[in-house]
Amino acid sequence: MYNTSLLLSDAEKLGISINDEQIKLFEKLSDLLVEQNKTMNLTAITDPDGIAVKHFADSISVLSAIDIPQGARVTDIGTGAGFPGIPLLIMRPDIDLTMIDSTAKKLKYVQSTVDSLGLIATTLHTRAEEAGQSKEYREKSDIVCSRAVAALNVLCEYCLPFVRVGGLFIAMKAAKAQEEIADAKAAIKLLGGEIIDEKSFTLSDGGERTLVIIKKISHIPPKYPRPSAQIAKKPL
Ligand code: SAM
Repeated sequence: MYNTSLLLSDAEKLGISINDEQIKLFEKLSDLLVEQNKTMNLTAITDPDGIAVKHFADSISVLSAIDIPQGARVTDIGTGAGFPGIPLLIMRPDIDLTMIDSTAKKLKYVQSTVDSLGLIATTLHTRAEEAGQSKEYREKSDIVCSRAVAALNVLCEYCLPFVRVGGLFIAMKAAKAQEEIADAKAAIKLLGGEIIDEKSFTLSDGGERTLVIIKKISHIPPKYPRPSAQIAKKPL
């Protein structure tokens, strides 16, 4: 179970309304997450308030910062147990969503959960820096989002390669957002991006969040993303 009224009130503060059908899907998602978490290490957050606020409200906050066009190609990088991807899909079942992670067992859970909810999405088991160099994914997404995966300078090298020119990357950040933004300025420019907006808000549990909205304004140079070892050794 999750705390429905907490989700509804946090969503309302963000200007997002959730209908009855979506409320039921969030309930099912919460049950599946808690059940599967008994046998796999999916998340440390399993209490009804935490699921409502830290997983669901935080995930859908993306919708308060940008307008996602109907049928947009959206990619969630480092989705883990499906955040923010699955809540976004519950809210916007029209999107063409791909959820990427380097851990196969988490993605297996994500795909079976999406299927159980009667929704449609693709899961892709790969490292972001590998898929970012493949023709199939490079500069093909309208919108990319990512939460709790890496510091912004590294995250930009993972995520900006997927965004088409004119598309958006939404980096979902917590308390240290301003420090991360300062450290990532050069990387963002080098990778063809530009910060066009920052939206900060506080969740009902007191958690501070900042959504950093980066627009892809030019093509990414061919050498990026670099292989994992180079990214780790010499982050941009
Ligand atoms: N986004 C989820 C959330 O907010 O609950 C999961 C966050 S979890 C802390 C980070 C996830 O990113 C892990 O599932 C990990 O496997 C994945 N990850 C880290 N680096 C990655 C990379 N280079 N490519 C793909 N997935 C990656």
